[in-house]
Amino acid sequence: MIDLHTHSTASDGTDTPTEVVDLAVGTGLHALALTDHDTLAHLPEARAAAARVGLELVSGCELSCDSPAPGTMHLLVYFVEDDGPLAGRLAELRAGRDARNERIVEALRGLGIPITSDDVRARAHGESVGRPHIAEALVDAGRVPDISGAFDRWLAKGRPAYVERPRLDAPEAIRLAHASGAVTSLAHPETLGYDDARLDGFVAEAATVGLDALEAFYSAYSPERRTQLAALAARHGLAVSGGSDHHGAHKPGLTVGVGRGDLVVDDDVLDGLRARAGN
Ligand code: AMP
Ligand code: FE
Ligand code: FE
Ligand code: ZN
Repeated sequence: MIDLHTHSTASDGTDTPTEVVDLAVGTGLHALALTDHDTLAHLPEARAAAARVGLELVSGCELSCDSPAPGTMHLLVYFVEDDGPLAGRLAELRAGRDARNERIVEALRGLGIPITSDDVRARAHGESVGRPHIAEALVDAGRVPDISGAFDRWLAKGRPAYVERPRLDAPEAIRLAHASGAVTSLAHPETLGYDDARLDGFVAEAATVGLDALEAFYSAYSPERRTQLAALAARHGLAVSGGSDHHGAHKPGLTVGVGRGDLVVDDDVLDGLRARAGN
């Protein structure tokens, strides 16, 4: 078993890269990808920790993309080079995050909630700061009981403190990933907000611009849904990926490797991605 979707303190997870590696080993995994948002800063520590315990570490990250979908589009990137063209673009994306975060804090202050950017930064431990850190500040200020409450009340798309940020469009993200030695997988396809017919059309289109895989084996989906998504990937000639989307305390109840207990991502999933990368 493997887990190809996890987050650490390099972005919006609450476990350090070393802790995530140790959790993976504790579950008996053979390979792990840390896929922090818009950064590769987790890689040196993760590689060193994985080497110590003999775990295979896949170099990854997760990107948010502009898309015509009503929901959100995230792309997972695997086998990425630390010094490729994607790394440079990530720095610009993080600057866009920082400016967006300031505007969210201003919006919250306008709503009578006096948190500061320092409060937010104090909750982040890496260079990629995001809405979960703002949510944590809101929880600590006693404004909501938990992180998901902060999203539901203020931070989610359509809520009063939601602010857009610059994102890559999907073809550009895929091109940058390929130019950096990587392959891409459409993360948690249901968050696009499409019904099955539209999802099929979206995946067909994404395949024509070079998408490599679909995250069929996602912790939040039922076993039946995972099988359906794997079939969707196969229909379009795509590989599959899978993982828990572990964020530590920021997404309670998700265990590295097994998600909510029923996730199984076979080792051969990684072989399929490797074949797409030509490795
Ligand atoms: P950002 O990339 O800063 O816009 O924040 C997006 C991140 O917030 C996602 O990657 C999730 O980790 C988290 N997130 C998004 N929606 C929710 C939600 N409804 N409840 C809890 N966490 C969420
Ligand atoms: Fe996240
Ligand atoms: Fe995601
Ligand atoms: Zn994720």
